[in-house]
Amino acid sequence: TPAAPPLLTARGLHVVYGGFAALDGVGIELPPGQVTAVVGPNGAGKSTLFHCLAGTVRPVRGRVGYGGRDITRLAAHARTRLGIARTFQQLAVFPTLTVAENVRVGAEQGRVVDPGAVERSLRLLGLDGPVRVLPAAGLPTGTLRRVELARALAGGPRVLLLDEPAAGLDTAEVAALARVLKALAADGTALLVVEHDLDLVADLADVVHVMAAGRIVASGPPDRVLDGREVTA
Ligand code: ADP
Ligand code: MG
Repeated sequence: TPAAPPLLTARGLHVVYGGFAALDGVGIELPPGQVTAVVGPNGAGKSTLFHCLAGTVRPVRGRVGYGGRDITRLAAHARTRLGIARTFQQLAVFPTLTVAENVRVGAEQGRVVDPGAVERSLRLLGLDGPVRVLPAAGLPTGTLRRVELARALAGGPRVLLLDEPAAGLDTAEVAALARVLKALAADGTALLVVEHDLDLVADLADVVHVMAAGRIVASGPPDRVLDGREVTA
């Protein structure tokens, strides 16, 4: 079957920090129902690309499009409202709010306001038990990563951007995360995963882009792109 047209498209992105090109002409497409992974050594520009798509870094040149609309100059919260959700490499939950309250915030910031979405997200991430009424502060990293993901999902996103979602997770938690992300892709969500764990990338990704020094230097299915390659620093 031919690939569906991409939901999110970036072309020719340039980001410069004090004369240094963190992104030097990067393009990427995120089709619905596909997991796209970005890998590469530290400093390659992965997070900068992520920020350009999320709206937290503005490129000096290039364009970001979403469903045919130019969103290059659109603020991050407005992109969330349109259906582009994200999680954070450094966890960013509200510590004094409970698990369920954190997820409700996501529902209010997202594309759709659907009270049922909060319960569905809690259930999907296994957070519908007693943990739902606990304050986020003090919960283990694995639980907080699930809270973040549930919060992102509660707004009914069409595109989900994940920066290092497996960081700090144990083997069982990574396997559970992979199951959830595959289910989301099967449901038609377009996923972007910036990830160090190449086993997870190989398991999860439909397409892998390898970045180095602000450019994409290789792209393709994981078995071809990751085969015998040293992509992490
Ligand atoms: P990655 O996520 O692949 O490790 P980054 O996108 O974080 O790479 O960084 C790419 C390059 O841009 C690095 O050399 C980094 O030091 C630099 N960089 C990133 N953010 C900033 C910033 N806010 N100010 C200055 N330099 C930055
Ligand atoms: Mg990074």
